[in-house]
Order: sequence, then C-alpha cells, then structure tokens
Amino acid sequence: MSNAVLESIKAAGVIGAGGAGFPTHVKLAGSAEVLIVNAAECEPLIRVDQQLLVSRTDDFLTGLTVALELTGARKAYIAIKAKHHEAIEHIRAATATEEKVEVFEMGDFYPAGDEQILVYDVLARVVPRGGIPLAVACVVSNVETLINVACATRDIPVTTSFVTIGGAVPSPATYELPLGISYREALALAGADDTQGKRVLDGGPMMGTLIDDLDSPITKTTKAILLLPADKRLIVEKAMSDGQILKQSRTACEQCQKCTDLCPRDLLGHDVKPHLIMRIANYGLSDFSGMKRALGCSECGACALYACPCNLSPRRVNMLVKQQLLAAGVKVESEGVFEASPMFAYRKIPVKRLIARLGLVDYDRPAPLTTNTWTPQRVTLLLKQHLGAPATAVVAVGDIVKRGDPVGRIADDRLGAHVHASIDGKVTAVSDTAVTIARER
Ligand code: SF4
Ligand code: SF4
Repeated sequence: MSNAVLESIKAAGVIGAGGAGFPTHVKLAGSAEVLIVNAAECEPLIRVDQQLLVSRTDDFLTGLTVALELTGARKAYIAIKAKHHEAIEHIRAATATEEKVEVFEMGDFYPAGDEQILVYDVLARVVPRGGIPLAVACVVSNVETLINVACATRDIPVTTSFVTIGGAVPSPATYELPLGISYREALALAGADDTQGKRVLDGGPMMGTLIDDLDSPITKTTKAILLLPADKRLIVEKAMSDGQILKQSRTACEQCQKCTDLCPRDLLGHDVKPHLIMRIANYGLSDFSGMKRALGCSECGACALYACPCNLSPRRVNMLVKQQLLAAGVKVESEGVFEASPMFAYRKIPVKRLIARLGLVDYDRPAPLTTNTWTPQRVTLLLKQHLGAPATAVVAVGDIVKRGDPVGRIADDRLGAHVHASIDGKVTAVSDTAVTIARER
C-alpha cells in the first residue's frame, strides 16, 4: 500500500492540522511501534477534536487504519481528556472490535497536547530535547489530520479547516471554513462585526498569535479564532515590544523560580530552567551554555501566563534568546539522557484554574459544530501554510479553477505541501506568497 498511499496524501496537501503544519506524507513514511492520536485539545476554548471524533467517526477510523499500516505501528492510543464523556463513549463503541486501538483518558491539564508531554503521559517515554516522537518509536497525529488522510485516499485534497470561533463573540461555534477566507469574514459568521477594544488571536489563548490584519487569510493550521478584550493579560503579554519585555524583566524578576517549577519541558527533564535564562538575560552575562537552555522551550506560555507572580514573560525572553542562537547557527543539543522529574505528575496545570487565571471564565462556553455551509466570494491561499519551503504557484491570473484544483505545488525534493483551490472561480492575483481566487458571478 505504502508508496501509492503516501503519494495520495502528498498530492492532497495534508499537513498536521493541529500544530506547526508538518507535512503528513513525510511523518507517516517513518516506522513506529506506537501511534498516538492527539485528541487532547490542549488549549482552553478550542472545541474541534472532541466534536470531529463524533461527527466524522468513519473518516477518522479510516485515516487511523491507513496511518497504522503506513507506520507499521502495533498499537494506537486515542489520547483524549477524560472529561469528554460523550466522545469517549462514542469512540470506544466504534473501536470495540479493534484490538490494536485503545482509548487513553488524560487528565484535564495544560499543555496536555504538547507532543512531547503527550508521549510521556501515554507511554512514559521522554522524547529527547529538540527531538521528535519518532526518536522513541512513536508517531503522533491529530484527529483532523487523520480525517484528511482518509479523504486523500479518495483523492479529496485539503480545502477547508475546522475552526472554533469563540471568545467575546455573540454565537461561539465550530465551523468547517474554506481555506483563504479572512479572519474578518470568519468572525462575522459568529456574529462579531465590532472588534473595537478587542484583539483577535489565531489559535488558543496560551500559544495563539495576535492577528493585526483582519483581512489576512486563515490557513490549514488555523484551529481557533478568538476575539478577546485588549486589556486581558494574555493579550498584553503578546502585544508588548521586545524592549518592554526585557525592561520589565530587569526591574521585576525576583528569581523566585516559580517559572522553572511549573515549566512542563523542564519537568520532562529537558533542563530548560527559565529563571536561569532570566538571570543571564537580565544581568547581561555571556553564559553561552546557560543561554542554550532556551532552545528547549516549547513557548507554551505556562511560565508567563500562569506561574510568574510578577507578570513577567520568561517565554518571550526565551523566544528572543532562541532567535539569536538560531541565527548564529547554534543547534539544540539532543544528546544525553533525559529523565522526567518525579514532580511531573504533581505539577500539571489544571485547565479550570488556568482559565480562571487568564480571566476567561465568561468565554468558556460550548462552540457546537455547525453544518451551516457558506461560500465566500473571494479567497487568498497562502503558498506557505506548512513547515518547509513555500509551494510555487502553478496558475496564472485569468485561469478558471475548480475547488480542489492544485494552485501551488512543492518540488519533489523539498519539504512542504501542495496548495489547492478552496472555491470555484477565476484567479485574480498571483505572487510568490499567495494565490487569490474570486468567484465568478
Ligand atoms: S517566576 Fe517570574 S519572578 Fe520568579 S524567577 Fe520566574 S520570571 Fe522571575
Ligand atoms: S514557555 Fe515557559 S513554561 Fe513553556 S516551555 Fe518555555 S520556559 Fe517552559
């Protein structure tokens, strides 16, 4: 099966729908002992995976079977938080005769869906710092990605993304949105026309990124669009300039080490120690080996938005240090023995408490999956929605395309993913970065 199926997954432009957008045909080409389905839905307020497991069960199970066969894994764990009773009951019934498949019930903690934390939680194996789960014979894939794998085997490319639109919107809901529509159009679907005094995030409250241009397009990795008041601490932390972040750190870090005590990657044994990075950065010391610890940071934000009593952001300081080290060609050191701390199990961050600390209790509402269909007049498809090189446009202005036609292709020898038209229409603009399609009236 393998080569032809991997080719169909590549042809369909499937990438990891829940994370950085790693091309799935590359991930599933590796052999593994165990496949973990990441249904943890790590970030507060996102409601995609738990609903897809129920509404798209057949496609999910087809994708899971394909992934098991491709990787040769002898076992699959569907890792889902125990609180999602309906989804667990449903998927247990649907997999009752599948010997290889088991549901793994997780606690409700953050960041349960961080791949490395997930692998340790399910298998008690520590992925080396800077490594991937394959280093411990494991492959991790999320629910939507496996649904897209199933569609790929029927030659259906990725043209939509399931997205929770939530926060301060009148009608939170989860939509299957055509790729390339604008954040503004998406928010309007949930009744949010007025964004005055608020900011928009692509992603969850912890790791999501601020969207400055609401007319920019959503991509294959967009899982949530959250509208939140601009004065929320989580928004302020993301909006501050690098200079402000460093100035605050220098004046207020009291070296209490709470950031390190609760750092999930440090607890995993990756020796991240954010309080030490703060000390080195704040005092202008050139402790190069100490600085390299920042490369093990996942940018989860637990230190900045939960742990630090002074509202500082070790996360942002780590990001700055990382940028400089990577620009200087310094690589993360994966050699050595990595052992999780005995405190790992006791220092998990409860999501309920996290939501309260983030000031999001009022926004922790259901966002039901809607089957409403909606056809945009225009889409802008970015040629880089994935890890690796950008795709190259294969259409020209004036071309007529149908939904599913390729508009951007990745060269055979490059890491990346093809891009497809998400609506029928005429190509109205092509650049090195995007293809725009307008519906013909
Ligand atoms: S928790 Fe805050 S104050 Fe304490 S060491 Fe970390 S950054 Fe400094
Ligand atoms: S963001 Fe903070 S808590 Fe998260 S891994 Fe980095 S240092 Fe640790």
